[in-house]
Amino acid sequence: MIDKYAVIGNPVAHSKSPQIHAEFARQTAQHISYDRVLAPLDAFEATVRKFFDQGGKGLNVTLPFKREAWDIAESQGYAIDAVAVNTIKHVDGKLLGYNTDGIGLLRDLRGNLRCGLAGKRILLMGAGGATYGVMEPLLREQPERLVVVNRTLEKALKLVGHFKTVEGIPLRSISGLAYPDLGSDQFDIVINATSAGLSDAMPPLPERVFAADALAYDMVYGKITPFLRFARACGARTADGIGMLVEQAAESFYIWRGVRPETAPVIELLRRTAEG
Ligand code: NAP
Repeated sequence: MIDKYAVIGNPVAHSKSPQIHAEFARQTAQHISYDRVLAPLDAFEATVRKFFDQGGKGLNVTLPFKREAWDIAESQGYAIDAVAVNTIKHVDGKLLGYNTDGIGLLRDLRGNLRCGLAGKRILLMGAGGATYGVMEPLLREQPERLVVVNRTLEKALKLVGHFKTVEGIPLRSISGLAYPDLGSDQFDIVINATSAGLSDAMPPLPERVFAADALAYDMVYGKITPFLRFARACGARTADGIGMLVEQAAESFYIWRGVRPETAPVIELLRRTAEG
């Protein structure tokens, strides 16, 4: 019998995960199916249980259910402190929960964009689920400084306080700010982990925020967001979130199948599709 996987969310029709995993499976000759599952907003857990009762092997979890997935799965690795799960593996009747977003971002930054993080000054915009997912992996790269800036300051402070309790995190390097408090501080890597770009909005960043040779990274993919346009005008190098999307999917695929697919051709394929 073919092994069944899917992405679960609401909405889920827009998800590129089926296309990505079909490419991974073709490339690595794995016999799997990968579908979309639309869960009612009030019946996430029941929909997950039904999927696994019917023989499903693994799920990717997307908005708005990553927190609920954390509640029902046994968290592993980075998922524990991310308080969010985007990958579930069904093993011996147990649901194991992982968060591959941070690993995906790191692989894109370090591998595809040749941008190391050690000793860098990093600005992370947003304090939602995506930021929780990437904080620990980013901090373990030992940047000189990591500032979380958010429209709602309390959320940034709560998030920073949470990660300060994680064992082995260098406490002096993290802080939470509101946008007006950024002043004239400059950063080598500016990551937009807000959803502002989806509605063509942009967080109120000061122009001087980019250091020389800075990288501006928007987790939103498939469009030139106002943040990326602004960064280009300020002379920064830019990247969107397609690489992260494919790299986090590759990590999920590895968790499920024990095989690492090649990501570069799939990133290329998605870019061509987006442009086409
Ligand atoms: P979320 O939990 O809803 O958080 C959204 C964040 O964006 C909040 O911090 C919010 O600030 C901020 N925000 C929204 N509009 C803003 C605006 N106009 N100005 C300033 N801040 C604004 O969402 P999420 O799960 O963290 O996801 C964030 C984005 O990352 C989404 O667009 C998602 O598609 C993307 N993402 C991409 C990948 C990938 O693989 N490429 C993976 C994960 C997520 P407040 O707290 O003040 O409301």
